[in-house]
Amino acid sequence: MKIGFIGLGNMGGPMAANLAKEGHEVMGFDMADVQIDGVQMAGSGAEAATGADVVITMLPNGQILRSVAEDLVPAMTKGATLVDCSTVDVDSARAVAQQCADAGLQFVDAPVSGGIGGAAAGTLTFMAGGSQGAFEAAKPLFDIMGQKAVHCGDAGAGQAAKICNNMILGITMIGTCEAFALADKLGLDRQKMFDVVSTSSGYSWSMNAYCPAPGVGPQSPADNDYKPGFASELMLKDLRLSQQAADSVDADTPMGALAQALYAVFVEDEDGQGKDFSAMLPRFEKSSRHDR
Ligand code: NAD
Repeated sequence: MKIGFIGLGNMGGPMAANLAKEGHEVMGFDMADVQIDGVQMAGSGAEAATGADVVITMLPNGQILRSVAEDLVPAMTKGATLVDCSTVDVDSARAVAQQCADAGLQFVDAPVSGGIGGAAAGTLTFMAGGSQGAFEAAKPLFDIMGQKAVHCGDAGAGQAAKICNNMILGITMIGTCEAFALADKLGLDRQKMFDVVSTSSGYSWSMNAYCPAPGVGPQSPADNDYKPGFASELMLKDLRLSQQAADSVDADTPMGALAQALYAVFVEDEDGQGKDFSAMLPRFEKSSRHDR
């Protein structure tokens, strides 16, 4: 396939390299001066999109996606498919879907889970929204860049699944960290705490697969001085998207709101910026009930 790839950062770079490695003809564009193995660089997004069967975007946010789509859509061939893999607000995904429909293009919103490691290894999970035809056009590429792709529904459903998942993740990570901090103060050994909880009803991905306590459980960013991994500011971004979506449909999400507020304090007022989102544990170790 002829593929245009816009946004070749931490995630997009390795994703595009994996597509090129499988023999696809990939033309890339990024505002920054980057070189990616096997990817030919274009002078603009429109140039990378011209003549492509599929154009993939992997960008920081919905506003940037909307402005990039203004350039891409007119350059794309009728019947081609635009696949946005960024994490953006549901409204932006639906607006770009409509713009594509008006121009005779297919659109899939397909945010990912799996992080930088999954992007490099080709083991991402894609959660996709769009028509069946659009999903099928993108599926062979999802199979290269990832290990699973779930067609969640119409346009916007992929972003909805992503923010619901990450709202759960933010809440469970905070719960896991505050429980470890409580266990410390109760004199409970961290390894014992892990041994019990990881096989009891308190288990979760945060505890079992990404344990926030250094030296306990499988290797995780906690064992690497909380270098991301998944940075706290990206978790804050996703929690904000979840609360924005909840506002727009009047959904009651008190725990999600609290998780957003805690990560906002951690990132904006404390030292959380640039640290993995599991660094909530050292934060709770230092704080006390009187700090609230
Ligand atoms: P990044 O900042 O490393 O990459 C974004 C790239 O987009 C940059 O290279 C930037 O130069 C480029 N860009 C920005 N504006 C542009 C424009 N107008 N035209 C062309 N290029 C432009 O970010 P990332 O970590 O690769 O994340 C990308 C998306 O994936 C985000 O939406 C993020 O929320 C999501 N995501 C990230 C992770 C992760 O662990 N990093 C995990 C899941 C999802």
